[in-house]
Amino acid sequence: MLSLRRNRETGSGSGTRPLSELLQNIAEDFYCFLFPPKCILCGVDLEDGGRIICNDCQRRLLKEPESTLPFCPYCRSSYPDYYEKCRRCGGRKSPGKLYALYEVNDSLRYYLHHFKYHRRPEIGMDFARKAYGVYGNADFINEIDLIIPVPMHKRKQLSRGYNQAEVLAKQLAGVFKLPVNASAIKRLRNTKSQTYLDPEKRFGNVKGAFRVESVDAVKNKTILLVDDIVTTGATLTECSRVLRKSGAKGVISFAVMRQHARNL
Ligand SMILES: [Zn+2]
Ligand SMILES: [Zn+2]
Repeated sequence: MLSLRRNRETGSGSGTRPLSELLQNIAEDFYCFLFPPKCILCGVDLEDGGRIICNDCQRRLLKEPESTLPFCPYCRSSYPDYYEKCRRCGGRKSPGKLYALYEVNDSLRYYLHHFKYHRRPEIGMDFARKAYGVYGNADFINEIDLIIPVPMHKRKQLSRGYNQAEVLAKQLAGVFKLPVNASAIKRLRNTKSQTYLDPEKRFGNVKGAFRVESVDAVKNKTILLVDDIVTTGATLTECSRVLRKSGAKGVISFAVMRQHARNL
């Protein structure tokens, strides 16, 4: 952090900087000297001030996934093949073939929180690279024509300034070398937070909340729909439904983490 700021200072033609800014920089440097940045998970001092977790925590957090198969968001059954209805719990709505890297845990949730609310895009990049390591040679990737993130309502995105699903989708597009379209679907309603809704209400909450803005962009395409976390799959199911209705050939969903609906 120190060296970064020093580089900026030397490169900006110093001499015209107000004294107050100079004093503030000195104060910040002194603060960093007294309180070096620490790993948000284990608390050790960080050598690289640009990161927020240490190398050990990163290795532990981004370990190899327990399963790389598509799964049912309700009962967590994994399938080597995809079936329209889950063979174990059956009859539920499904977003289609659904993949997630990790089962959520406290550390992952906290890391994701920083990606979402503290604007740390490098966290998304960690997950995108991991996804490439896991699925880079998977057959389903060869089917994908286009990546689309789950959209955020315009008002919410303006106030937060950041849609983590969109950032992640663009990062995935970069590492998988696939096109991305972040405006193909629009969120029409600023839906209530799903956090405190039971699984059935979640489906009602997102019903009719999305619209395909560009039918030409999705028609006859196999789409990889991207979100950060999946629980019941209600949001992904609704987005998949409108994409298919607009002529998408297929929709496959990907989330970084999955949380079992029973653990809500
Ligand atoms: Zn750590
Ligand atoms: Zn199931």
